[in-house]
Amino acid sequence: MKYLSEYRDPVLAQKVIENIKKISHTPVNLMEVCGTHTVAISKNGIRQVMPKTVTLLSGPGCPVCVTANEDIDKAIWLARQSGVILATFGDMMKVPGSYSSLSAEKAEGVDIRVVYSTLDALQIADDNPDKKVIFFGVGFETTSPTIALSILEARKRGLKNYSVLARHKLIPPAMAALLSLGEVKLHGFICPGHVSTIIGSKPYKFIAEEHGIPCVISGFEPLDVLQTIYMLVRQAENGEARVEVQYKRSVRSEGNTTALKILDEVFEVCDADWRGIGIIPNSGFKLKEDYSDFDADKIFDVEVPPPKDDPPGCSCGEILRGVKFPYQCKLFGKACTPERPIGPCMVSSEGACAAYYRYGTG
Ligand code: SF4
Repeated sequence: MKYLSEYRDPVLAQKVIENIKKISHTPVNLMEVCGTHTVAISKNGIRQVMPKTVTLLSGPGCPVCVTANEDIDKAIWLARQSGVILATFGDMMKVPGSYSSLSAEKAEGVDIRVVYSTLDALQIADDNPDKKVIFFGVGFETTSPTIALSILEARKRGLKNYSVLARHKLIPPAMAALLSLGEVKLHGFICPGHVSTIIGSKPYKFIAEEHGIPCVISGFEPLDVLQTIYMLVRQAENGEARVEVQYKRSVRSEGNTTALKILDEVFEVCDADWRGIGIIPNSGFKLKEDYSDFDADKIFDVEVPPPKDDPPGCSCGEILRGVKFPYQCKLFGKACTPERPIGPCMVSSEGACAAYYRYGTG
């Protein structure tokens, strides 16, 4: 297929669905670990056309949703400090921390700015030499290189008032953590296309080899996802566990070596705190010592009260672990809607609750 319309061709899609039905005999639970896949699956009604043997679960695929309360509390604490401008991506604004949210703070007059790229944040630092500009960096391996690049650029420009509160997370360790928890029986992972464009296919190998779980890296068009499901079902039915790449037009086994080099220059792997899961070893990035002058954690002595749990009744943690479907939260669509969200899974455009609410729960 060469053209976008072909990846959405209903006749071809129907053929793949028939092929899935033909080969699927044993019940399988397949998990997507990318919010963009959650949206693509919901928007295109892919759950509804699956045979009864195939269940699609959403995992910890939304970077905003998996950011821990304590980290949002820290960002808010930093934003409130005198002479500070906090910059972040828009999706982060409404996510509630333990006691407040960035948008509530902004409404109170705290200087918090939404940016579309890290270059915007650098520009703010350039324009405000008397202020300290902190970028609240969340995201998976997809966005981490741009944050790393902003630090290299800040050093190159000699900017002394730019720093990053780095809360970036790595997907493969989270997949392994879910398997180790053993709460849901998984038979395959729909691996994230964008993340894999950066990291390649090799980092999933241990999931297939050590955990015996098939992994297929998928694109985001309806036919991509359907073909991925077909490939996962085929592996499961054959008793195989391999890493396959459906998204070949974008993913190479070695990934994007330029981006990986930049990541390696600026960051080192550390443990990270995931909402709903807790601390996962080696699942985050922190700045290397050589870049500590850009590390908000080192520059500021952050003091926040102990974080609170998710709001009463909110099942975001279970949803992020694939233990519950969004509609199984008793607040879903009643007390919690995208207009009045209670948990991050309804706030973020890539959150599972928002996707199920917007496109249906089937
Ligand atoms: S519906 Fe709302 S309250 Fe329930 S899990 Fe989702 S975000 Fe949390």
